[in-house]
Amino acid sequence: MNSYNFEEIDELHWTLGLVHHLEVGLIVVDRAGVVKLWNGFMENHSGVASSNVEGKILFQLFPELPQRWLQQKLDSVFLLRNAAYTSWEQRPYLFHFKSNRPITGSAPFMYQNITLTPLTSPTGEVDHVGILIYDVTDNVTSQLELQQANKKLQALSREDRLTGLFNRGYWEECLNNEFERFNRSQMTSTLVMFDIDHFKRVNDTYGHQAGDEVIRVVADTLREQARKTDILGRYGGEEYGAILTGTNGENAMIFAERLRARIESLVVPYGEHQLKFTISIGVSELTYEHDSPKEWLEQSDQALYKSKQSGRNWVTLFGESE
Ligand code: GH3
Ligand code: MG
Ligand code: MG
Repeated sequence: MNSYNFEEIDELHWTLGLVHHLEVGLIVVDRAGVVKLWNGFMENHSGVASSNVEGKILFQLFPELPQRWLQQKLDSVFLLRNAAYTSWEQRPYLFHFKSNRPITGSAPFMYQNITLTPLTSPTGEVDHVGILIYDVTDNVTSQLELQQANKKLQALSREDRLTGLFNRGYWEECLNNEFERFNRSQMTSTLVMFDIDHFKRVNDTYGHQAGDEVIRVVADTLREQARKTDILGRYGGEEYGAILTGTNGENAMIFAERLRARIESLVVPYGEHQLKFTISIGVSELTYEHDSPKEWLEQSDQALYKSKQSGRNWVTLFGESE
């Protein structure tokens, strides 16, 4: 028969006290799923006292538990005598507990990481498994909040990722501002819109990545040709817009013709291929006749369409020959 001295009983008492007050959920079950220990954390969060749980079968007490999943985990711990872990990312919680901060916290429940650990008896048998439940709600919410903030930032971002030019949303905002500014300052600006010719062929012949490379090179060339005050954007897939502030149509045509010629002369190495391509350009100067920025944009689009119709690799100024 076992005999304990007082010191050992003291130690056992402390250990039990610590287990009870641990800020981690601890459940011990045997092979039959009977609960042997249910600590204070579990009592507080489930609202069920240990005296109502201990000695009873876990899955009967809490039928909402994912029985098949948990039983499989328990079986493997009994069999392999190794601990098993599950993070909240695989399964947000084992027990549906309320979050500690129902008002200030944004979590709808307590996120949990779970560890199942084999408990060895003095004879070396593994007849029990300890289920540890860690409350990771604070970490998870700050991580999720950070992810959300990053998403919002990206949406607010002004930059097109592929080219580093302004994205369409921000560029259109600039177009509106430029239109408003013209009404006050009467200093004209000119819009240059362009589109890569037969771009589908680049994608179809050399692949989408080659297409992306061409889109980037065209953006770099545009940047290289433009002034600091010009507002450059990627309008769509392979469509670009440049607002040349303080520039009239005539001077914008010089810019556009130079850009067209520069692009035509480029040879972009891609693998063993040498890519060559051209652009078609539409130019329209902002005048008092424009009622809205949309009208201004539509005119440069019409001019661009004309360049395409003229055989591409061409520049058209809106109203030039009409
Ligand atoms: P056109 O001379 O009339 O302009 O002929 P096109 O072949 O260039 O015709 P269009 O302007 O309609 O083609 C646009 C193509 O650009 C279709 C689409 O698959 C491709 N595209 C759009 N965005 C991207 C992108 O980000 N990367 C790549 N690689 N391709 C894109
Ligand atoms: Mg095109
Ligand atoms: Mg296009």
